[in-house]
Amino acid sequence: MTNSNIVTRFAPSPTGFFHLGGIRSALYNYLLARKHGGTFILRCEDTDPARSEKKYEDYFLEVFHWLGIEHDAYYRQSERTTIYREHLEKLIAEGKAYVSKEVPQEEGQREEVIRFKNPNKSVTFEDLVLGTITFDTTELGDFVIARDLDSPIYHFTVVVDDFLMGITHIIRGQEHVSNTPRQILIQEALGAPRPIYAHGSIILNAERKKLSKRDPNVHPVLDYREAGYLPDALLNFMALLGWNPGTEQEIFSHEELIATFSIERMQKPGAIFSTDKLEWVNKEHIKRLPEPELLRLISERLPKSLTELPGYTIERLKVIQPLITERITNFSQVSIMAATGELDYFFTPPIYKAAQLLWKGEGDLASIAPHVDQTISILEQESETEWTAEQLKALLWDYATEKGRGQVLWPIRFALSGRDRSPDPFQLAEILGKNETLIRLRLAKELINHAQ
Ligand code: GLU
Repeated sequence: MTNSNIVTRFAPSPTGFFHLGGIRSALYNYLLARKHGGTFILRCEDTDPARSEKKYEDYFLEVFHWLGIEHDAYYRQSERTTIYREHLEKLIAEGKAYVSKEVPQEEGQREEVIRFKNPNKSVTFEDLVLGTITFDTTELGDFVIARDLDSPIYHFTVVVDDFLMGITHIIRGQEHVSNTPRQILIQEALGAPRPIYAHGSIILNAERKKLSKRDPNVHPVLDYREAGYLPDALLNFMALLGWNPGTEQEIFSHEELIATFSIERMQKPGAIFSTDKLEWVNKEHIKRLPEPELLRLISERLPKSLTELPGYTIERLKVIQPLITERITNFSQVSIMAATGELDYFFTPPIYKAAQLLWKGEGDLASIAPHVDQTISILEQESETEWTAEQLKALLWDYATEKGRGQVLWPIRFALSGRDRSPDPFQLAEILGKNETLIRLRLAKELINHAQ
């Protein structure tokens, strides 16, 4: 099915902050068009003035820009009233729609609307995901398609636009299945060709219930940007909720998604939204980032109190980058690490009390003083070019084993990091370099001397 005539669309209504679940339909339509060199249209369905707001339109535009989902054409339904009016007039002239006098049931209800003259028949359509669907439209009656000639409603505008824009494939959520027969009737009345339909599987939460916009685990998309998720990771994660690549591959770049996506492999069973999976996918994408990008994303999350330290350099950040990356699944966790003081000691000597140099708080300072001295004199001998964790471990290991590893290695680790939890002392020493390591060990020695 390689076909540059494919035209797809995504048609959000600007009635709320676009949330993560909404990405999927947009993505599938986009992927299908890109894969075949077709056209992807973004259409703002803002015909309901009571509920539509510009800020929500700006929001979804920002979302797609951030995600890298680019459209080939953009339309706003509120600017197309004349077009809908012409089509309404045509249907009325042909007797396929009519102005209907209403008896208002409630305050403020209209006395006139435009209704579609339902031919009352059974409509059957092939859905690529759900199979053959047959619907007796009689129960819909003569449904309303416009409040007046200048106020068409959703079903009508969708059909007119899909027709005029030459939409060949409609991929959307399952909540739209029941709208389809109505829209097909309107298509037939307008003489519009029927697009190919694919209604995506339902997305379920961890309790296997339909995922709602109010689910605490799903947020407006830009919250994920704020929280340090990668756009490609979100696309990857959402793509797999209702589409199966047919291989073991789970991590896809943007380009790989375009190359691999196929509408035929959309899945019928409900897809389960798992936040654990999202973290995993995001981490896998983090691991694949080039170093400069990682450094940029990490440094963006560091507070000024850290980046303005005299010892803060990009070279040092480069060295600790793998230690940070290893521990995060999204970049907001970098800020948390910084806020809890887990990063300061890489850039500035730690502040602590002499007693903290004692392994498990046991023993006395007098007994560890010689170990610190000995460590200093062993390390002083080592050249800067040989200064690697492995080499330093080889130099100190026998001594530490002889005198007790806790007694020897704990004070080194604490002198270098000032923390109970940190990388091992050899790794720390390598990161800090010879000069800084010795400065910190000598500071520890002074502290011990003073405390005694
Ligand atoms: N504007 C509709 C919505 O936001 C989508 C229309 C469609 O995909 O057919 O739910």
